[in-house]
Amino acid sequence: MEEVRLYSLPKLKYGYGDLVPHISEEQLTIHHDKHHQAYVTGANSILEKLDKARRENAELDMKSTLKELCFHIGGHLLHSKFWGNLAPAGKGGGTPGGRIGDEIVKEFGTFDRFKKEFSQAANSVEGSGWAALSVCMQTRRPIIMQIEKHNVNVYPSFKIIMVLDVWEHAYYIDYRNLRGKFVDAFWNIVDWGAVDARIVKALG
Ligand code: MN
Repeated sequence: MEEVRLYSLPKLKYGYGDLVPHISEEQLTIHHDKHHQAYVTGANSILEKLDKARRENAELDMKSTLKELCFHIGGHLLHSKFWGNLAPAGKGGGTPGGRIGDEIVKEFGTFDRFKKEFSQAANSVEGSGWAALSVCMQTRRPIIMQIEKHNVNVYPSFKIIMVLDVWEHAYYIDYRNLRGKFVDAFWNIVDWGAVDARIVKALG
């Protein structure tokens, strides 16, 4: 097998129209094919710039290069996680069982309390960013992250198991400025089976 040295856009595990009415076909298509693709392209072009500078032993502005690289890789990895924790309309949402259900109740008391905290984290991101449910590998506690851009406020080494993109590009076609409506809609299309598999993998 050839060694993987660059990023690629992952295929969705559902059709572009499968999240309707919560996310429209137009919104999902542009989000995946244009916005996510731009982060893949951006990350790869910086990796190629690094390769070239190393071959030619040329100078690089490391501060700006690494800042840009982190932003694009963060964008790519978070979008990849996001598509993976969504399910077709009618097949997702509800109250999770399994390990994820147990861990949520243990940490937050009730699923409703978790939902409220996560939604508030998503609704209050300043500008562009994400809400993410993660697991601290030292305390083994689920912790909500409020990520700004794609990479600010990320806890190093925490395992991210569920994300919600609240960049305007994620919802503006469908919900205009009403981010809260998009956040409410998200709960109908969470793939809890996928989130459960991620927490089992993280915690063993
Ligand atoms: Mn996005």
